[in-house]
Amino acid sequence: MSDSPSNALNTWVEVAKNSDFTIYNLPFGVFKNKKLSPRIGIAIGDKIVDLSILDQEGFFSDMFLPEGIFLSESLNELIGLGKVITKKIRERVQELLLADNEKLRDHSARGKVMLNRKEATMLLPVKIGDYTDFYSSMEHATNVGKMFRDPENALLPNWKHLPVGYHGRASSIIPSGSPVIRPKGQTKDPETGAPVFGPSKKLDFELELAFITGKSTKLGDSVSTADAEDYIFGFVLFNDWSARDIQAWEYVPLGPFLGKSFASSISTWVVTLEALEQFKVESPVQEPEVLDYLKCNKPHSFDIQLEAYIQPEDEKSSKVSTANFKNMYWNVAQQLAHQTVNGCNINVGDMMASGTISGKTEDSFGSMLELSWNGQNTVKLDSGTERKFIENGDTVIMKGFAEKDGVRVGFGEVKTKVLPAK
Ligand code: MN
Repeated sequence: MSDSPSNALNTWVEVAKNSDFTIYNLPFGVFKNKKLSPRIGIAIGDKIVDLSILDQEGFFSDMFLPEGIFLSESLNELIGLGKVITKKIRERVQELLLADNEKLRDHSARGKVMLNRKEATMLLPVKIGDYTDFYSSMEHATNVGKMFRDPENALLPNWKHLPVGYHGRASSIIPSGSPVIRPKGQTKDPETGAPVFGPSKKLDFELELAFITGKSTKLGDSVSTADAEDYIFGFVLFNDWSARDIQAWEYVPLGPFLGKSFASSISTWVVTLEALEQFKVESPVQEPEVLDYLKCNKPHSFDIQLEAYIQPEDEKSSKVSTANFKNMYWNVAQQLAHQTVNGCNINVGDMMASGTISGKTEDSFGSMLELSWNGQNTVKLDSGTERKFIENGDTVIMKGFAEKDGVRVGFGEVKTKVLPAK
C-alpha cells in the first residue's frame, strides 16, 4: 500500500471532499459516548473506527497486542508500544477501509465498529506528563521584541543559536470544547505604575502546533536530530492561552508563569507523523550556522496551513489569522535535540509546543498581541465588531490542514469559549 498521490486511495466510507479526516490521515483519539466507556478510535470522515471492537473481532490478532489495549482513557500505553506497532495498526485500518476491501465493509460487526463522530465526546488524547513551550517563530519573537524591548535589536543574542523554550503546566492542558475561565492576577496599572489585582484585561490566544512524544529516554541520555522523529508520535493544534497583562508584570527574570499556566487548549485527534510525511518541506536557512548538535541532515519542516477565528457570542466566526508551520525557524528535530541535550529525560505523552506561529504579513500574526500590536490597533471582525484582545463569551477556533496533489490531511479544530473570571 502506498500513500503516494499518484496512487490515489478510495474508501467505502463517505468522506466529504473538504474533510480533514481522509483515508490518508487516520488520526488516533480517545472518545466515549452515551453508551460506551472511554476507548481509542481512529477518525475517518464523520465516523470513528472503534479499535477495541476491531480488536475483539480479531482484525489485529496477528499483532499480539496486550489485551484491552484500546479500552483506555489515553493513548499512552498504545503509543508506548512503539511506532512499529502503531504504524501497523494504522495501516491495517487503512487497508480495511479501502473501497475494494470487503473484510470490514461486509462484516456483521461493521455497525458496532463504525460510530458517528458527532455522538462522541472526545477526551484528552494523552496523559501529559510534561509540557514544553518553545518560541520558534522568528517573526513572532521579532514582533514581541519590537513591542517590549528594542525595535532595533528585537531578537535577543541567544535566539538564533538555540530554540528558546520554557517548561509549562501540563495539568491545565484541556481538550477542544472545554471552556477557559478568564484568569485573575496581578498586573501593573498603566496610570499609576502600582500593582493591582483583578481579571486579566488582555486575554489572548497563541496559534501553535504541538508534538507528542511516543518513546521515552533515560535520564542522562540525549536524542540527536537524526533520531528525533523516532520519538515523535504525532501532532495536535495547540492554543496556548496567555494573559498578556499578567505576563508583562511577572515574567522578569524567570519567564512565563501565571500568565500562561491557567490553560492551554488542544485539538483531540492526534495526526501521526506518518500521515504528515508527504507534506515535508525544507526548513528555512539558518544563519549564523548552528552548533553541531542542532544541525540536521534532512528536512523536518511541514507545510501545514493554520487558521485562527474569533466568534463573539451570537455572531458568526471571523478569520483573524492565516499562518503556516513551514516558516518556523527552529524545527521539531532541533527542539527535541535541544530539550534533551542536557540529559533531561522525556516520557511517552510529553507535549512540546512550537511557540506562536506568525508569518511576515500582518494577517499571518498568530496572537492578538501582534494583531492589535498590544492594543494600539483594533482588529475588525466580519460583523464590524472590534477586538483588541479576547472578550468574555468569545469562542476562539483554530484549524489546520496540509493539502497537496489532491491529498488532504487535517487536524479538525480546537474550539474554546471564554467564560468570565470566577
Ligand atoms: Mn506559547
